[in-house]
Amino acid sequence: MSYRPKITNVTKASSNDKEGLYEFIIKTADGTQCRAFYSRNPEWKMTNISRLLKTPCPVCRKDFICKCMDAYTAEFEDQMIGDQWIEKAIAE
Ligand SMILES: [Zn+2]
Repeated sequence: MSYRPKITNVTKASSNDKEGLYEFIIKTADGTQCRAFYSRNPEWKMTNISRLLKTPCPVCRKDFICKCMDAYTAEFEDQMIGDQWIEKAIAE
């Protein structure tokens, strides 16, 4: 599969600072939006990602729930850390 997500915006949807749990909404260049859950202790780790059902899946084209984004967890994680999206989102 040649799909490669490109994060264009990340916003914090909710957080529990005491527990180190965060929920982010990730937008990608193709218009896909995903909800990602993170745990920050001992280090930032994505615990779950799911596509929001606003647009069809860019991989399988379904407009209902699918698990495609699970395959791109590493890709999302690389960008979330490498491009400082988490830092920017929690600074807001
Ligand atoms: Zn899909």
